[in-house]
Amino acid sequence: MKNILVVLSGPSGVGKGTIAKLLIDRNPEFCLSISCTTRAPRAGETDGKEYFFIDKTDFLTKIDANGFLEYSEHFGNYYGTPKTFVTEKLKSNDVILEIDVNGGLNVKKNYPKAVLIMIAPPSLEELKNRLVNRHTESEEQILNRMERIEYELGKKELYDYTVINDDLTKALEEIEEIIKNEKSKN
Ligand code: 5GP
Repeated sequence: MKNILVVLSGPSGVGKGTIAKLLIDRNPEFCLSISCTTRAPRAGETDGKEYFFIDKTDFLTKIDANGFLEYSEHFGNYYGTPKTFVTEKLKSNDVILEIDVNGGLNVKKNYPKAVLIMIAPPSLEELKNRLVNRHTESEEQILNRMERIEYELGKKELYDYTVINDDLTKALEEIEEIIKNEKSKN
């Protein structure tokens, strides 16, 4: 069975980071891809762990050399999935990418065999309640976030699968089953 590239996307707050981490912990054959970014490392972040931190000139050179499976700009910084890193890892592991919806769709264009999985909340209302109850965002920020969430979930038909993160263990098992089935097709 060949190794596969799996993209996990979903709106912020849906728990995709936790899911990605647990998938790696539970399945030693899975490996999480590391993106390149031009943003500065935050406290506690290490080059080659959370991201490969590179400067803008190097990022642009890598774009010209067709070195990314996809890339985009967020908040004035570039982020991209390094092609060689992923293809090297695919030789020995299934590779998980945790990226936004547009990034996922761009990966599919460049690598049609990628399996796209959308992680969705049980309901929009619940996700909104979670955001409100965190008390970390203003009303305007919550509205902006909800717009973004609805935009991302609106693309779920373009994804291969949607998994509802209602019960974390169930969601993990569902994703593991999808990966197993997809691998058996290879
Ligand atoms: P942060 O700076 O908070 O780590 O990430 C900011 C945003 O960049 C998040 O929405 C994250 O999903 C996105 N991001 C991280 N890596 C990549 C990548 O390789 N490609 C794309 N398109 N987005 C990414």
